[in-house]
Amino acid sequence: MDQRPRSEQPSRRRSQGTNPGSFANRADVGGPRAFSSPDTPGMPELSSKTAWDFMPDDWTIKDGSWRAPEGFVPITQLEHARLGITTPEMERVAQREPHLTADQVRDEIAAGRMVVPANKVHLAGRLDPTAIGRASRTKINANMGASPVSSGSREEVEKLEWALRWGADTVMDLSTGGDLDATRDAIIKASTAPIGTVPIYSMIISRSIEELDRECVLECLEHQAQQGVDYFTIHAGVRRAHLDHVAQRLIGIVSRGGSLLAKWMLHHGRENLMSEIWDDICRLMRRYDVTFSIGDGLRPGGLADATDDAQLGELSALGELTERAWRHGVQVMIEGPGHVPFDQIEYNMKLQRQICHGAPFYVLGPLVTDVFPGYDHITSAIGATAAAYHGASMLCYVTPKEHLGLPKRDDVKQGCVAYRIAAHSADVALGIPGARDWDDELTRARAALNWEKHFELAFDSDTARAFHDEDMDVDTDFCAMCGHDWCAVRISKEISLFVSGKDERYAWDKPRVSDALSPEQKQILEQRAVLAPEELHRLAHKTRTSLGTDHGQAACHSDQVEDAEQAQAIQEDAIAQQNTFSDSN
Ligand code: SF4
Repeated sequence: MDQRPRSEQPSRRRSQGTNPGSFANRADVGGPRAFSSPDTPGMPELSSKTAWDFMPDDWTIKDGSWRAPEGFVPITQLEHARLGITTPEMERVAQREPHLTADQVRDEIAAGRMVVPANKVHLAGRLDPTAIGRASRTKINANMGASPVSSGSREEVEKLEWALRWGADTVMDLSTGGDLDATRDAIIKASTAPIGTVPIYSMIISRSIEELDRECVLECLEHQAQQGVDYFTIHAGVRRAHLDHVAQRLIGIVSRGGSLLAKWMLHHGRENLMSEIWDDICRLMRRYDVTFSIGDGLRPGGLADATDDAQLGELSALGELTERAWRHGVQVMIEGPGHVPFDQIEYNMKLQRQICHGAPFYVLGPLVTDVFPGYDHITSAIGATAAAYHGASMLCYVTPKEHLGLPKRDDVKQGCVAYRIAAHSADVALGIPGARDWDDELTRARAALNWEKHFELAFDSDTARAFHDEDMDVDTDFCAMCGHDWCAVRISKEISLFVSGKDERYAWDKPRVSDALSPEQKQILEQRAVLAPEELHRLAHKTRTSLGTDHGQAACHSDQVEDAEQAQAIQEDAIAQQNTFSDSN
């Protein structure tokens, strides 16, 4: 049996109905339209350029291949890719993305359409390389970090583990309080996923923004690179000329980094310090292979400010910065908005694709409405799904606490789940090979009323099981939603004689409330999603053990038993044992 996570296993079955990605462009890995939505008329054209058009000045072409100068030693994944070298990290990405070969990963990196954020220091630690780009599956990022009023290193490492448990592909440490250095160090050491930071936050600890200078910036970046940070968000695209447009906005600048650098520019009467020293920053980041996540300091903070002159002016600057970083051999991704009405999302994604020559787009949401604080994981996941379908490669999660407070552990879970839904939905729509197999397997289990398989395949198995068992026994051929007589799936099963490994005699005549709800299950239901992971699993384990289902499938599952008679005997035993268990509690 393939031991890899389901999302990393190759496609095994062909669909009998619609094909995944029926309405998307052909996969075309190696081209600029890899896994893309068809362009609505009026969308910006593709760029005719890639990272190959922005090579270092001292590289030359010989016999159709680029050559580095004598004595050059490649460091970054981009430099290796340009020289045709397939690194172990590219091989690992291809293992994790079975629809891609290592050579395709290398070629996408060389074109600038894919990044593998993998600082050499973190690589020597626990980092498991992952790719961000249109040809790969859509990734999600979870933000965390101590604030001056809440949390500390231990809590942040717990949040990191929680975020990884719930599917975060990368994590950003956005700490602005407590011991920033210790928190960052602890998170990097504990993380198998790439870690990103916004280094300006630590640059202004114990100094005012006005005091920021070149030496301070480079010293801080060097320190964080030495710690192993895999990608830096640097808001170098905010320019003095853009600030005039900000005055027209409803909510001005909502990026911390963007607002701080705007203040610095106004105080000094100079251009953005980060753009002034961009080449120095590139040289430093190259030494460790830290990837750029070029920040969107002027992202809209409300629907009314979306796609305005300030945002688009900054986007042009991000394109120039991308070209300069590529000339230094540094990997680049670009950050994007923010709050965007649903109808503007495709335009925003495709404009970025044009201006930044296909560099991976990393978007925050976007939120598609502003009036649901407390539910912004939902408002933004809707926008994120559209963004991923139309061009984004990584989705930065939003939690229910967005705009309201520092996320706690359960907020992290809710944000991760919402964004896994967005990313997976987009991957299915784009036709990423294998993405829909998971949906199809669960549909088969649902059609067979095979609850154990249904729970096993659910992204959050324990919650699915607890929700079901709150009302009904585990092996009824219907659930409490419609009841026996109205269960369309059961009726359909009767009609088609679907083989589920169960005998028809086990379809109860009428719905009944479960006798089997154990104290542990009750506790799961009462504390939905706020239990510690180990506690949740301990409870679920007890429940599974009591039902004889602790090996991934019910013992009566058709994969485990010879025939319906044997399945029937096992079920009778399990139910008898369960009733004994319930009585004794
Ligand atoms: S009772 Fe309704 S919701 Fe439950 S399995 Fe049957 S059709 Fe689906």
